[in-house]
Amino acid sequence: MSFLRVRHLSKRYRLSTTDFLALHPVSFVLPSTGLVAIKGKSGSGKSTLLNLLAGIDRPSTGKIYLQGEDITERKWPLLGHEASMIFQHYNLIEGESVLQNVALPLSMRAEGKKKAKELIEQFGLSSLMDRDVSTLSGGEKQRVAICRALVTDPLILFADEPTGALDEANSEKVMKELKAISSTRLVLLVSHNEELISTYADQVIHIVDGKMKKGPEVAPEPMAKYRTRRTRQGKKWVLPFLLRNLKKNKIKDTMCFLSGTMGFLALLLSFGFFAGNMPAMEKEQGKSLLFLSASISRRSEVEIPGSALTLVKKTRPSYEEAMDALPGLKEDNISSDYSYFLPSTLPFRFEGSEFEPTAMQPIYDITLTEYGSELLIQGEAPRDNDFHHCIVNQEFIDRYGENLLGGMVDIRSRSVVTYRNIQSEVFLDARWEIAGVVKEFGFLNVPRIYYSHSALEEKLGEIFVRGEQAQEISIQSLVREAEDDSPYGNYAQQIFFHDPSEVYRLFHLLDEGDLGDEVEVTSPSYALRQSFSSLSQAFTSSLTLFVGIALMGLCLILGMASYSSLVAGRKDNAILTVLGAKRGSIISIYVSEALALCLGSALAAFALSPLFQIGLNVLLKKEFDIERLINIPYSHYLGVPLFTILSLLLFAFLLGAISSYLPLKAFHHAPIVEELRDE
Ligand code: ADP
Repeated sequence: MSFLRVRHLSKRYRLSTTDFLALHPVSFVLPSTGLVAIKGKSGSGKSTLLNLLAGIDRPSTGKIYLQGEDITERKWPLLGHEASMIFQHYNLIEGESVLQNVALPLSMRAEGKKKAKELIEQFGLSSLMDRDVSTLSGGEKQRVAICRALVTDPLILFADEPTGALDEANSEKVMKELKAISSTRLVLLVSHNEELISTYADQVIHIVDGKMKKGPEVAPEPMAKYRTRRTRQGKKWVLPFLLRNLKKNKIKDTMCFLSGTMGFLALLLSFGFFAGNMPAMEKEQGKSLLFLSASISRRSEVEIPGSALTLVKKTRPSYEEAMDALPGLKEDNISSDYSYFLPSTLPFRFEGSEFEPTAMQPIYDITLTEYGSELLIQGEAPRDNDFHHCIVNQEFIDRYGENLLGGMVDIRSRSVVTYRNIQSEVFLDARWEIAGVVKEFGFLNVPRIYYSHSALEEKLGEIFVRGEQAQEISIQSLVREAEDDSPYGNYAQQIFFHDPSEVYRLFHLLDEGDLGDEVEVTSPSYALRQSFSSLSQAFTSSLTLFVGIALMGLCLILGMASYSSLVAGRKDNAILTVLGAKRGSIISIYVSEALALCLGSALAAFALSPLFQIGLNVLLKKEFDIERLINIPYSHYLGVPLFTILSLLLFAFLLGAISSYLPLKAFHHAPIVEELRDE
């Protein structure tokens, strides 16, 4: 049984125009101990042979057997398992100490540093233990490299021109050490130094122009003493490399961190808007004297004979119908709609001047004892529900000027009624003193004059019209007795709620569509809520789009940063591979870097978000007149405690992992020999 056997091993490089046979097929056997030198002129193919044997380059033909086992196509190479390698230019991890370098293969195997220290002492390098390897001399560096190669107690040590960069004295020293090492294992050395080879080598392979001129002469050996090894990898060694990368890529990482923070801030604030806008709107919308008012009408569809069209006809429902449609409604919630006589928009005169049509709104309680007193910002609410006072809102003041309190609003409304076949003109005159000003929820609000509904009703009770045979009837009674399709009821009944909870119940019925097809309820607050909801939905969709674009940008930035770090660190990565690190573990260094950035920026965004939330809410308050439109749910959302931070971190984790892993996995394929090539 031979220790290492090579059969018809060759290497053909594919160049752009031609193929180049760098190593013609060679066959030989190597012993399990001793120093075997591969000699030849520069460019003859020595390193090519060594790299094929070490497994860092793939042969074009041939097979390699280790103790009878074909290892040519083995998934894991010899290096990092049964073999180690040293190089002309040492390939140490610069910036790390001697001990760190020597202990690295151990930490990859999740082993302690003890053996590394012992070896360093054995090689007389104790005084350099904590020195950065970049500060050492060439001879010292090579001896550190030998220590690192021996720390895993390999069966084979490959050495590619280990004395090539050393002076004579150091070359001798290194060769002596290699010779000593070769007493217990195979040392396969590439060199063009004839003198050293003749002094130290037990066997020689001579290569000339890619052909083996002379092979080793090896006596048959007893049965194998060793078994092939597959060392398991630890993960702890990744952390120092991650920290090293963070330090090295400070500027790039800071920029990634900042863009991550901005992206996550945008995400958090949009989420805050999504979670906060409707509750904030609901909180505000009660701040209106209109809030307790609604109207209800009966809907019926009338077929038009000879036409495919149907007409929707609105008529005034009876009290009973209204109460059926809105369970819980009491008689004092419902009243006739008198807008036929006092329309909801009407021109008015103020202190002698004529003004354009403005909203006139009857309310149940103009004394504001039931509702709305906290909205009063100027003046006082009238003491009684009389027809001499009105209340205006802030928008009215904004439109018609300040200091209107005590001023007189004059209106005149003319309507025509027919009673018992006689048509009469009805004039309704009112002169209202502005008693108070209310500050209402301003979103989409218009200038409005509030007057007392009951006072109007009383007034209409005092206006009589005459019919045939001199019969008289008050307008109030006329409206009450009006037929379904008479215009006087303006097709509706007024509803005045007395408690906000009744309004919310109505909203609920409207949301659920539980009112049926027969009646139609119009609530100004509900309409406002609907328009706000549509607006905020549109707003949320566009925000989602923008945040999506921002996060995609972040993914690209992270992917690019990870990829460029990997490319910048390719030499170190090649060294790590030679020491036995799996590609997956090396990629995990860069993925961890992206993860650290992502999680860090998510946390920073989370910490900064209250500040941005306050600032944006101030701006939005100006725009929409709604407090706390953005309200990031910090403690709970959908009943899940810490929902925001947990889902943010999970999201950041996935984003970092995916955006860095994919490009690293997909694009980096440079062969390890290229990256290890001595400069
Ligand atoms: P040595 O170690 O004896 O100096 P090498 O084994 O490095 O020589 O190279 C042998 C020949 O193969 C050289 O002519 C070199 O230019 C060529 N060679 C080495 N690597 C490559 C490669 N990746 N592509 C093409 N030619 C290569």
